[in-house]
Amino acid sequence: MTGLPQPSAELGLREGYHSPQVDVEVRLNTNESPYPPPPEWYEALAGELGDIALNRYPDREATRLRGALAQWHGVGAAQVFAANGSNEVLQCIYLAYGGPGRKVLIFEPTYALHSHIAHLTGTEVVQAPRAGDFSVDATVAVELVRKERPAMVMLCSPNNPTGTPEKRETVLEILDAAAGEALVVVDEAYGQFASWSAIDLVADDVALAVVRTYSKTWGMAGLRLGYTVAPSPVVEVLGRVALPYHLDSLKQAAGRLALQFSAHMEAHVSAIVSERQRLVDELSRLDVDVWPSEANFVLWRPRKKGASQVWQELVGRSVLVRDISSAPGLAGYLRTTVGAPEENSRFLAAVTEVLS
Ligand SMILES: *Cc1c(COP(=O)(O)O)cnc(C)c1O
Repeated sequence: MTGLPQPSAELGLREGYHSPQVDVEVRLNTNESPYPPPPEWYEALAGELGDIALNRYPDREATRLRGALAQWHGVGAAQVFAANGSNEVLQCIYLAYGGPGRKVLIFEPTYALHSHIAHLTGTEVVQAPRAGDFSVDATVAVELVRKERPAMVMLCSPNNPTGTPEKRETVLEILDAAAGEALVVVDEAYGQFASWSAIDLVADDVALAVVRTYSKTWGMAGLRLGYTVAPSPVVEVLGRVALPYHLDSLKQAAGRLALQFSAHMEAHVSAIVSERQRLVDELSRLDVDVWPSEANFVLWRPRKKGASQVWQELVGRSVLVRDISSAPGLAGYLRTTVGAPEENSRFLAAVTEVLS
């Protein structure tokens, strides 16, 4: 016995990505949808199951799924790449456009996976701060793109964990500065909750990839399916870094069939958007700072009590939110996912008690 070899240096330095799971009644910590997919979707999937030849490898090109997504977005099927969750989409983008000797520009605070996957793929991270309102300052971004010449620029709109959308103008200015040298990625995991989408800007001669997921708006976090709408040459490259047959047959069918029930998803999105307003309004009456959000969560900060203490006292009332107060630039902050009305009421009652 001589022991085990050390993992690569990049890995040794970093912890994995975890959201603590605690056994509580009201879970408002991971931005999932409170609503499962409709029974009609389960029926449609069950109806197709018998026809899926699981002894055969899946359609490697995911032709029908990509065709359905392309139609849904009004783009070409060659402009859609799908993978196991948008995290895997991002990993493929990093493998293809990042890597050793290349830089990615990331505006903090943002989704932790953007820098995590950068480290895993040996991509150098250039960290840039956000403006006071948590938006990306276009002037700062353009300067950094010119100075650092990154291979990738990561944007997140609306941004997790702040809920801030980027302006269309900001994306256009960054694209202009990148001038085809950098791939601009807009992570739109919360895109359907927002007032605009960058998908309209995607074209084969524009270095823009917009990433979407089934995990949040579609209420299908358990399915692990995400995709990007990007120039077809980019999609072709992503197909080369993905593992062969990475997307199983069941998932391809499930994701395609979901699009037939989009009215159901959209109704839930509007319900969540109006509940989001209720959370913001009610929180504003308490001794907390609340940030406007275009996503399915709300960023807030107790003014007189520490975030971790408030988090703990909420857990004591069987309500779990996300304590993000240890992230850089987010001292004192908590993030609450918008849940079903009764869950939000439970949260509001608990937080009112804790802060009074
Ligand atoms: C939740 C989230 C994702 C989703 O990742 P999946 O792998 O699709 O579940 C991606 N980006 C952001 C910013 C998120 O908050």
